[in-house]
Amino acid sequence: SAKQKGRDHFQFFHPDMAHKALKQFNFEQSIRQALQESDQFFLNYQPKIDAQRSIIGFEALVRWLHPEEGLIMPGEFIPLAEESDCIILLDKKVIHQAIEQLQVWREQNLKLLPVSINISGKHLISGNLVSFIQAELERSGLDGSLIELEITEGVLLTDFERCITVMTELKTLNISLSIDDFGTGYSSLNYLKRLPIDILKIDRSFVEECDTLKEDGQIVSTIISLAHNLELKTIAEGVETLEQFNFLLSKGCEAFQGYYFYRPLSSADICTLLKALGNSH
Ligand code: C2E
Ligand code: MG
Ligand code: MG
Ligand code: MG
Repeated sequence: SAKQKGRDHFQFFHPDMAHKALKQFNFEQSIRQALQESDQFFLNYQPKIDAQRSIIGFEALVRWLHPEEGLIMPGEFIPLAEESDCIILLDKKVIHQAIEQLQVWREQNLKLLPVSINISGKHLISGNLVSFIQAELERSGLDGSLIELEITEGVLLTDFERCITVMTELKTLNISLSIDDFGTGYSSLNYLKRLPIDILKIDRSFVEECDTLKEDGQIVSTIISLAHNLELKTIAEGVETLEQFNFLLSKGCEAFQGYYFYRPLSSADICTLLKALGNSH
């Protein structure tokens, strides 16, 4: 079975489920059910740090603990969820859980730091994202500045004017906006200058060899200059070595995320970490 192959070779679907429609059907049944039963999805939090290596925030990353299949990583179910409306329900669950987590940390007297949430393009333009987040913020009494939304470039192509409208509304809630996996999509510079975004998140594929491959180093440094010229901040994802960190620092990148510093951690581990670092009142 999939389980016997171990976590690294996890296979949610049996290989003979070759028929795509059948696969999608089974998946939708399974995820719809899971979305109703409240506790199958949980979040890990990966710290983001600044040039001094202080933690400045976290990225919420969803995991699915399937009752029979075990732990399923987002790479295996997000792309499929995006093919149906499930992604909107899932994204909302993630937003709700992240805000509840911030409330828990507040009750534990921890210094609150912003949490970023990945939002699928479909959800961004779907209609009620803004009112949903606004209601969550009001319910919790948290300020929008504690939330950052990470959006990939793909959505910008589908309905750019709608993206601008929604993003502008999100900005009125004090929410930060970043373009995730920057450099892998097709956003034109003309698009970029018109969007009310705050941060460009440099894709891991450029970070990986930024210090060893001349071209990748030049791409990274060009992205950082571009961001600064547009008065945006940059964060590099997937930093795995000291050499990558030093390269990025030398080019003026202001924030970092990656296994070199911290892996995605459980909420309990984040709590322990923050207490150990003295990030509590
Ligand atoms: P992403 O937003 O680009 O997230 C970064 C991914 O890179 C995460 O994988 C993270 O664990 C991984 N990562 C972080 N540091 C390193 C590193 O140093 N080296 C390497 N090799 N990897 C690193 P994860 O958690 O498997 O998430 C994969 C993707 O799934 C995310 O990419 C994001 O696009 C999507 N995703 C995750 N959670 C959500 C969610 O709640 N909603 C939506 N819509 N998408 C999500
Ligand atoms: Mg992300
Ligand atoms: Mg990313
Ligand atoms: Mg990525």
